[in-house]
Amino acid sequence: MLYKQVAELIRAKKIDKFVGVGEALLGHQQYFDIAQQYFYADTATLLQQLKVLNFKDETILIKGSRSFEFEQVSRALAQKAHETVMEINLNSLLNNLNFYKSKLKPGVKVMAMVKAFSYGSGTFEVANMLQYNKVDYLAVAYIDEGVALRQAGINLPIKVLNPEASAFDKLTEYKLEPVIYSFGLLDDFVSYASAQGIAGYPVHLKIDTGMHRLGFENYEIETLCDMLEVNRYVRVQSVFSHLVASESPEHDEFTKKQIRRFEKAFKEIERTLGYKVIKHICNTAGIIRWPSAHYDMVRLGIGLYGIDLVGIRG
Ligand SMILES: *Cc1c(COP(=O)(O)O)cnc(C)c1O
Repeated sequence: MLYKQVAELIRAKKIDKFVGVGEALLGHQQYFDIAQQYFYADTATLLQQLKVLNFKDETILIKGSRSFEFEQVSRALAQKAHETVMEINLNSLLNNLNFYKSKLKPGVKVMAMVKAFSYGSGTFEVANMLQYNKVDYLAVAYIDEGVALRQAGINLPIKVLNPEASAFDKLTEYKLEPVIYSFGLLDDFVSYASAQGIAGYPVHLKIDTGMHRLGFENYEIETLCDMLEVNRYVRVQSVFSHLVASESPEHDEFTKKQIRRFEKAFKEIERTLGYKVIKHICNTAGIIRWPSAHYDMVRLGIGLYGIDLVGIRG
């Protein structure tokens, strides 16, 4: 059913060329009827066949789950491109940082999002500028990104949004702070910490207040608190959630609901822990549109790189 729907969407959107990777797509290629279509069992096979595909003057969307490691494909394709230079003006980035900082009450911290190579701008250079200008926290998507920053001399606290259990050794070796977003991940990290003799390791709890991506839902908070109460392996550094549509006036009621759910969750967690944690829910648009929800910290992402989603909407 899924692949029938995918094929239907591709037909409706008039895609010229389709390349499907993975056993599942390979096994369902009969549903697709695009003039140019290719199916490969895995990413390695696709890479071998890349020349055959003969891409030229085309816009290519590369999309797949983490395990396919499609960054190898984009890298291979990029090598064929003519030399392209993107200049990033660090002074402009600094101006953007200061603009958003000027919207904060004194004492509100800034976590700068440098995931995905700083939204494509070059992680190390941007992180270095941010460190020099004293942001409070950095956040990356994966452990490897944090390791690369440490190796380049960044010593700010670094939060990892999507820490994988297979790399906990690297995480702790490089003093990176994991986001804990599920009971499974909490179990994994606690087992790891107890085996390694680690106690009081700083972690960040993610609450799902409506994004439905990762995080503890409100009905899980009680169980989470029960587990945290008896747990000496972690210390909760912060509790946070992500707003789905902070830039959209038509979704303001939903945003308010998210903020209410967040308050309920962090109050319960703080009461259980018996100490204060850093609370944060605002992304860039939230900084501008939801000043009452800045709490202790804001997470500056796309605004740092000069995109103003609130302004674009007028
Ligand atoms: C990317 C990200 C942000 C930043 O959002 P912007 O809209 O780019 O400011 C904030 N929080 C989390 C959890 C993110 O993953």
